[in-house]
This record gives sequence, C-alpha cells and structure tokens, in this order.
Amino acid sequence: MSAPSTDAFADLSRLDAAARALHVQLTARDRNRFKQLGAMLVRENATMNLTAITDPAEVQTLHFADSLTVVPALDAYVRLIGGDVAMLSTVRVLDVGSGAGFPGLPLAIVRPRIAVTLLEATGKKVAFIRRVADDLGLDNVTALSGRAEEMAHHPTLREQMDIVLARAVARLPVLLEYCLPFVRLNGFVLAMKSGDLTDELRAGAHAAVELGGAIGPITPVPIPGLESHVLIRIDKTGETPAKYPRRPGIPTKRPLGI
Ligand code: SAM
Repeated sequence: MSAPSTDAFADLSRLDAAARALHVQLTARDRNRFKQLGAMLVRENATMNLTAITDPAEVQTLHFADSLTVVPALDAYVRLIGGDVAMLSTVRVLDVGSGAGFPGLPLAIVRPRIAVTLLEATGKKVAFIRRVADDLGLDNVTALSGRAEEMAHHPTLREQMDIVLARAVARLPVLLEYCLPFVRLNGFVLAMKSGDLTDELRAGAHAAVELGGAIGPITPVPIPGLESHVLIRIDKTGETPAKYPRRPGIPTKRPLGI
C-alpha cells in the first residue's frame, strides 16, 4: 500500500485551538502523528467502515479534540500519585470499545509515557489500530481484540487499570459493568457522554454501587463544537464482585440498576 497523503490534515487549527483550551502542549512530532492518523483513517475508511466522520475539520473536533478532553483528568491523577506526566510512568489506561481508536490513540500520541491499552470487539478495527500504532511508532499502545465481559475476568487486566475510558459504547449502567471490573482501587472510569443524562445517571448510580464504584464529579468540556459533552468520573471505591461482568450480552439484556 502507498503511504497515505497527510495533505488533507495540513491545517490543524481546530486541534491546536482545542489543545490550548485543554492546556495540552502539542510537539511537532505529535502534530505529525495526528496528520498521519487522520490520513490513515480517511483512506482506510474508503474500504472499511471505521467512522461516519471523514471531513478533516470534523475529524479534528469530533475525534481528535474530543479524545483529548480526558487528558487534564489523567494528568491530575498522575500528579496525585506523585508522578510527572513528562517522565516514565507506570500508569495504565484502558480504552473500552475503541472502535477506530478513540479516545485511546490521540491520548497515546500526546502522552507517550503512559501505557494505553485499547480493547475492541471487532477484529478489523483492532487490526486498523495496530497498523496505526506501527506506522506512527506508538510503542506505548497495546490493542486487544475481545469483549469487555470476557477480558475483564483475565487476571492481567482485572483491577489492574488506573483509568478506564469509554466513548459511545453503551448507556451508563451497562458501561459500568464493562469498565469498573478493570479499575484498581482508587482509580476511576471516565465516561465521555453528551445529551440528557438524567435517567442514565440514576440507573448508573445504582449499578456503580453494585460494582464497587461511586459516581463522582461531572465536568463540562470547554471546547467549541463540543458544548453538550461532559466527562462523568466514576470512582472505584471497593472490589468488584467476581460474578461481574456477566456473560457477553447479559449486561445489555439485563442492565444493572434498572
Ligand atoms: N469509542 C469509539 C468512538 O467513540 O469513536 C467507538 C465507538 S463505536 C459506536 C462502539 C464500539 O464499541 C464498537 O466498535 C464496538 O465494536 C465496541 N464494543 C461494543 N461493546 C463492546 C464490548 N462489550 N466489548 C468490547 N468492545 C465493544
């Protein structure tokens, strides 16, 4: 395959503005990697269903900038445990249901010392994430193929993650059954959400308690074009009972907390 053209992403002004608003500094290498990621996404999307968003300006806002909204919370966590975001870190982040790699890939680009694992059920999307990680030289990325309901019972993953992220995967009660079992005590889930969340939050609060968690602060996203977006933090306050997550499909069929 020929190298994808990065010309369509020559203008990164939307990404740059969002990064400034989030106090995330982008290096020249980061900006080149975003150009490569955008080019690969658009090119491979022509033969594979990766995303409905392909306009370069929209990719910057709705994929790149939206993904970076989790960075301030990650940096605050690293500082809280006495680390330095610029130094080698032992912090582990998991992105559940990554699709074409969002939010995990942008996060891995701007925080190359953080170990970012992306878990995705669809094999061809995992293959895309691996190609991106290889081509961009992101050696902090691991892409896993599988379902959260099964992977969360694996001893190398269960209660091993500092932070678990998810965007557009499931409603909160289902999402928490997927995500909270991976989180270590005093870590957290960051659910990237938008719209009216009243019902989700009510059911999610009950589900969280059952899974060893508690709903924490809800933070609005300070980026033009993402005004309705929020980050919901769910703190891991106790061990998740071994029976969770239930078998694949059961969390959706019989959501906790409803
Ligand atoms: N997070 C990405 C984004 O925001 O662009 C992808 C969102 S896409 C709507 C949801 C993705 O979650 C799909 O790629 C799907 O395969 C994956 N997914 C859904 N349920 C899952 C599960 N139980 N375990 C792993 N992946 C799952």
